[in-house]
Amino acid sequence: MMLEVERAEGIYLYGPNGKRWIDLISGVSVSAVGHGNPKVIEAICAQAHDYLHLMVYGEAIESPQVRYAQKLASLLPDPLNSVYFVNSGSEAVEGAMKLAKRYTGRTEIVYYRNAYHGSTHGSLSVMGGEAYRNAYRPLVPDTRQIRFNCMEDLSQITERTAAVIIEPVQGEGGIFPVHRDYLQALRAQCDRMGTLLIYDEIQTGLGRTGTLYYFQQLGVTPDILCTAKALGGGMPLGAFIASNPVMAVLKSNPALGHITTFGGHPVCCAAGLAALNYILDERLMEQVETKGARYETLLADHPAVQSIRRTGLLLAVEFGDPDLTQRIVLQAIDAGLMTEWFLFHDTAMRIAPPMTITPAQIEESVEILRGVMDRQFHATKVKAE
Ligand code: PLP
Repeated sequence: MMLEVERAEGIYLYGPNGKRWIDLISGVSVSAVGHGNPKVIEAICAQAHDYLHLMVYGEAIESPQVRYAQKLASLLPDPLNSVYFVNSGSEAVEGAMKLAKRYTGRTEIVYYRNAYHGSTHGSLSVMGGEAYRNAYRPLVPDTRQIRFNCMEDLSQITERTAAVIIEPVQGEGGIFPVHRDYLQALRAQCDRMGTLLIYDEIQTGLGRTGTLYYFQQLGVTPDILCTAKALGGGMPLGAFIASNPVMAVLKSNPALGHITTFGGHPVCCAAGLAALNYILDERLMEQVETKGARYETLLADHPAVQSIRRTGLLLAVEFGDPDLTQRIVLQAIDAGLMTEWFLFHDTAMRIAPPMTITPAQIEESVEILRGVMDRQFHATKVKAE
């Protein structure tokens, strides 16, 4: 499905000939503060006037990086106070994996069935979808897959394990949140084994679930946090965040063991900080629960909907049928709603609009969606009869 977009503003994408779509997925959790947010544009322009790229990471102190890192650290629990900026989510995962190997002196990385961590070789090596991995072997060795939320599998984390990487809410798996008791048990097992715990909150970060990061609702802190997507306010930016002592191992032996030319680009950091400040100033995180719940209420009683999984303003509407899901998604796009299904879960539709969406816009999008669902569900029933 190729959509030609000429302009985007707020929750709307505009194409040629007056075509308009409501963006129900925010470029997969990126455009949290809406398209063309004036505060973000202003920050981008101001920083572009000051300077663009100066030097590879570290030689020159670039105030946009410093300001953004300080802000993030001030909003995160101890000991997450050292921020390493990169260009993308996959790179944040790469950095986290390398850091865990260096810090522990071990090689094994444990990951989850249906996990998605990116497309580079390292992140692909901890992806929980066999079809994607198999096409690119050989991958990074010494990885081990376990089942999500399965207590029994925790014993596979041993003194050989450098790190466990987990999405506290599995995104491409179809919006499955981790259970609090499981996460507590995982943290305890990692502590017993001297294993680092890595959270991938690339899709859930910057307030989409109602707190800056989802783990803050569960009260179980990782050793390394990976973040990206909304982090750059629409510009390419990722980060892995750890404690000072953990991060410090990258400094030596070898020195320059993890470097990046563009990671933490000053314009991206300025844009990201403006987006985060907007989220905080406009109290968008506080509104996420009500907005998400409104979608749930307005959609749950439709006969096509089997169930809805939700964390904040991140929803999976479960239809239980890949063909019906595909038809609903494609027809929704035709009817003016930008949405999609999930990489590892093709029986549900994703709803993750910009967090700036208003109650009236939620009603507007649901009216269109219910119309599409009515027609497609009816067509399925007619076919079955
Ligand atoms: N981790 C998660 C949970 C993601 O959803 C994604 C992207 O969809 C990534 C990692 C990879 O991020 P990027 O596409 O920026 O490399």
